[in-house]
Amino acid sequence: MNASVELRSYPGLDDRIVIVRVGDEVDAVFVRTERFNVLIDTLGTPELCRMALDLLEERAEARPLVVVNSHMDWDHFWGNAAIAGRAPIIAHAAALDRLRDPSTREVLSDKASQESRFRNVDLIGPAITFSGSMTLNGGDLTLELIHTPGHTPDHIVIWIPELRTCLAVDAVEYPIPEVWSRTAGDLRLIRSSLERIRDLKARLVIPAHGHTYSPSAVDENLAYFQALADRVGSLSESRLADQQLGSSSGLRLEDFVPIPDGMPSDTVTFYRSCHETNLGATVQAHIERLKSA
Ligand SMILES: [Zn+2]
Repeated sequence: MNASVELRSYPGLDDRIVIVRVGDEVDAVFVRTERFNVLIDTLGTPELCRMALDLLEERAEARPLVVVNSHMDWDHFWGNAAIAGRAPIIAHAAALDRLRDPSTREVLSDKASQESRFRNVDLIGPAITFSGSMTLNGGDLTLELIHTPGHTPDHIVIWIPELRTCLAVDAVEYPIPEVWSRTAGDLRLIRSSLERIRDLKARLVIPAHGHTYSPSAVDENLAYFQALADRVGSLSESRLADQQLGSSSGLRLEDFVPIPDGMPSDTVTFYRSCHETNLGATVQAHIERLKSA
């Protein structure tokens, strides 16, 4: 993949906020406040992050930079090395556990063996971590970093109350988000994080994938999880044990959300696997409910 960076906006988006887009891979977000600039996420490689910083230089107007890592998924923080010596990086405390987990390094060696652009990635962690929530007071704008686990244990969204704008990263996703594991606990977390975002009553909700900005995506994600729970709740016990449940009629991805025309086949494959995980977690939650009844 020949990845490059471009700066984008959305209709109605305040001009202090800039979408930093790497094709269909991921969006980072740049926010300019009176007192400092904030870059939320550092993209998938240090080269991409450096390209982004170059493109943003004029808008940065020599203000100090603060960087936030939304969560420790590769496409959001592997560019951290480009930030070294330029800005402090902030993340949720749970990001440190993920960074230490052997799977993080395994993902890197896997991806580096497939694509040369990942061979000079260094895994750099945040300098500042917090639990619960944290507020960045920019003067004209406030950035509230809100822990929203469920997609991953360390996930945070950024709420800017003055603009009623939520930078939702991967907590909200079109067509569907993905739960961290096939457990009832993580399913509960992703649904309550979505409810928390819905209750912000944002004017714009901006995820890192899918190029959407309408708050309706939050309602659609919540409706998807509710429809999954309803469908699974109507299955017989023998069907619940079926490992191929996600490919049977009435339970496939397209039975819950329309697959957009022209979506590349590898992207469809990716969302099918997200759906499988979500379905697995829903089945698990249902089985636990049956046992405790
Ligand atoms: Zn992502």
